Amino acid sequence: MKKKQKILIVLFFIIVVTTLILFFKKPKELTYQKEIKLKIGEKVPTKIEYQLEKKTNTTKITWKNLKLENENIYHTGNYQGNFTVNKKTYPINLTVTDNIKPTIENVKNLEIYENEEIDLLKEIKVTDNSHDKIEINVIGEYDVHKKGEYNLTYEAKDKSGNKKTESFKLIVKEISKKIEEPKNEKPNQGTKKTSKGYSIEVKNGMYYIGNILIANKTYALPSNYAPGLLPELTSAFETLKQKASEDGIELKIVSGFRSYNTQNRLYSNYVARDGKTEADTYSARPGHSEHQTGLAIDVNSLLFSFGETKEGKWLQNNAYKYGFIIRYPKGKENITGYQYEPWHLRYVGDLSKKLYNGGNWITLEEYLGITSEYSE
Ligand SMILES: [Zn+2]
Repeated sequence: MKKKQKILIVLFFIIVVTTLILFFKKPKELTYQKEIKLKIGEKVPTKIEYQLEKKTNTTKITWKNLKLENENIYHTGNYQGNFTVNKKTYPINLTVTDNIKPTIENVKNLEIYENEEIDLLKEIKVTDNSHDKIEINVIGEYDVHKKGEYNLTYEAKDKSGNKKTESFKLIVKEISKKIEEPKNEKPNQGTKKTSKGYSIEVKNGMYYIGNILIANKTYALPSNYAPGLLPELTSAFETLKQKASEDGIELKIVSGFRSYNTQNRLYSNYVARDGKTEADTYSARPGHSEHQTGLAIDVNSLLFSFGETKEGKWLQNNAYKYGFIIRYPKGKENITGYQYEPWHLRYVGDLSKKLYNGGNWITLEEYLGITSEYSE
């Protein structure tokens, strides 16, 4: 063999061996925890440990679509994240699970009169460890138009399917215009004449001036007065509604008769939420609500802006023709004791024409010469 050939063979051998070594050599392997499992409310890691060449290192994780509150996660689901080492990206899966049921508070038996509105879901407070949407339902059949005792169940279910149930009774009582002589309500107003010279008469614990039944912050109704919506109001409203629709205006009652009991529940909820001072500006104390008279309704919408809608304007200018007044007008808050309520109509019969006053409403308090203030 020539020397040149020998050199070539050796070179070839070296190349082959080197290639084989490179080919079979294991790459440097990076190991880490690819799956992270957390429970609702736990802290989501921002860093991850990995092992590379028998050394442990830590690096930052980038998460996608995570909604965190103080680094904790309150939404169940699967999430993806990753980190980068030596320009190579490694994925991480995060699974957030929840096995704790929601809680339902304030569950109690509820008593209403026939045809009274009630929002059963507003009577309870549901909380959950997750901040996902909780599905709340009332299970069972009931009819607020029919007296009876209905056994119902609240069900609250979180996104993971954890379910809590609580049973309660809804008791629908028969409407009654009969008043047992009130026990605790005392006619606490000494004056027999109003400042405008009208006589105040007390009948069955209720205050009347002429044929106008008074319910405001000064004058309360007996707790057992539960007449439902009175026929004089409902028939006047039918006419009003008809006339409105001829003008292209659609009206509907969104709140009608409200019993003492219901008002008590509503008012207590408002006080718990906003405090007594604030609640007194927009909600009547039990016995003081005009809705208990059966002669007051709320129509269409309980928003101040309702006054600016075509329906609100139509009522402002036409309701008086059918015996209704805007009971709590704008600018008369200190007289009526209530904020402006463009949706609240009181049926007063013929008196409405006197109170309309070309659109600049005279309140019942002003016209009759009475106050509307709580005694304490
Ligand atoms: Zn009202």
